[in-house]
Amino acid sequence: MTTPQYEPLRSTHDLPLTAIVIGAGLGGCAAAIALHHHGHRVLCVLDKVREFGRLGDSLGLGENAFTLLQKWGCPVSEIKRIGNQAPNMTIRRWRDGKVLAVQPLMDMAGYIGHRGDYHDVFLSWVRARGIPIRMGSEVVAYDDVDPQPIITLKSGERLKADVIVAADGIKSLARPLVLGVRDDPVSSGYACFRAFFKPTAEQRGDARINKYMGEDCVNFWIGPDTHLVQNTLRGGEEFNWIITHKDDGDVPESWFQEGDMEEVRRLVMTLDPDIRGIVEQTERCLDWKICYREPLSTWVSAGSHRIVLLGDSCHAHLPTSAQGASQAVESAGVLATALDLVNGRDEVGVATRSYEKLRFGRTRLSQLNGEDLRDRWHGILKSVDEDRDIDPEDVKIKNRWLYSFDAEEDAEKRWKEVRETIDNEFHAGQISPLC
Ligand SMILES: Cc1cc2nc3c(=O)[nH]c(=O)nc-3n(C[C@H](O)[C@H](O)[C@H](O)COP(=O)(O)OP(=O)(O)OC[C@H]3O[C@@H](n4cnc5c(N)ncnc54)[C@H](O)[C@@H]3O)c2cc1C
Repeated sequence: MTTPQYEPLRSTHDLPLTAIVIGAGLGGCAAAIALHHHGHRVLCVLDKVREFGRLGDSLGLGENAFTLLQKWGCPVSEIKRIGNQAPNMTIRRWRDGKVLAVQPLMDMAGYIGHRGDYHDVFLSWVRARGIPIRMGSEVVAYDDVDPQPIITLKSGERLKADVIVAADGIKSLARPLVLGVRDDPVSSGYACFRAFFKPTAEQRGDARINKYMGEDCVNFWIGPDTHLVQNTLRGGEEFNWIITHKDDGDVPESWFQEGDMEEVRRLVMTLDPDIRGIVEQTERCLDWKICYREPLSTWVSAGSHRIVLLGDSCHAHLPTSAQGASQAVESAGVLATALDLVNGRDEVGVATRSYEKLRFGRTRLSQLNGEDLRDRWHGILKSVDEDRDIDPEDVKIKNRWLYSFDAEEDAEKRWKEVRETIDNEFHAGQISPLC
């Protein structure tokens, strides 16, 4: 439900710009909500799946996302209420659980909740705005033509709009079809086993393995080339662990690949017994290969400049960034703002080209932040003598600078300068690459 007094902004153009969003994940939903808030007309959000399940497990949303969602009339208390309520998170030593650092949870992900639960809330916000979500609508082709690019669905139906937003995830089809980029995942050298379940009454009652159940908590165990994240969801009712481990290279990139619990049990043989028991008892887990995509030199179609990528399709993050969804929300706000600031539909290309320039630097820093944390966690116990205390600052999560940021305000502040650059580039017939 939206707050009753919420009214979207009026379009800054005589006729509102029309938009189609591809992908109804968190990024696509955020794009639809932001565009609607700014007075643009979202014709529909398309998703290839027939229905959404409660997929994935823990996902973080930071204050930088909430600032925007709140402006767009979304009651973020609905997210905060279902997020993990622990005030702090604890970073521990792999082998014995020794506390290395304690930080407020807000320094990391902000609110950690189940991706499926958060997704349900985002979908309800889209529906509350009367924006149609068309399920079972797989986009298979893009026609990058001016003044309205055309997309073709698997059914053969063709749709067009002033701007097309491809929020189609890490395995984006828009990347090869729209940008002409060969879609090669680059292995990060790591994969993670992850499990999510409701502990049984017996497990809850077993003092040897239930230390981290009962009430909401978030803990990390770090060791050489590995770390384990544990947190509860739904007030301690559900339990989630994720072990990042060296990748032998043969795990396919998939959200659904079954993991080998025997391998997990081998990996945790040296782990703190206070958490090892419940990991060993877990019945099944998933094995996610953690892949990078090389930073893209553009996020916008070369012909009409009216098809743009957003979210994981152009700036996927490592899990240690805890910012994948929040950065997608920021991108949504900047795109919608840029579309406001141009002079009508003839200038959609100026807006999309400004959007990619406004967003690239920040998303890159946020991605690198996640790599830095992983490297510090995996490296520190290799170099520090077991008996020596380590400086807590060396293992702390350093995400705070990301949160006090209003991406729309930033876009407005930098607009004049960026627009001038884009005007010059269009004039010269040469758009400069993002990297
Ligand atoms: C199944 C799944 C589980 C995940 N689990 C977690 C998790 O546990 N923790 C975490 O931090 N992050 C998880 N993520 C990633 C996280 O959701 C994203 O990083 C973040 O929300 C930004 O998402 P996005 O909207 O850009 O992409 P996504 O969330 O990947 O959404 C993309 C959407 O596009 C749709 N789509 C793809 N191709 C087409 C097409 N050709 N036509 C129409 N629709 C299309 C997909 O069905 C999907 O719904 C998961 C993603 C998925 C898809």
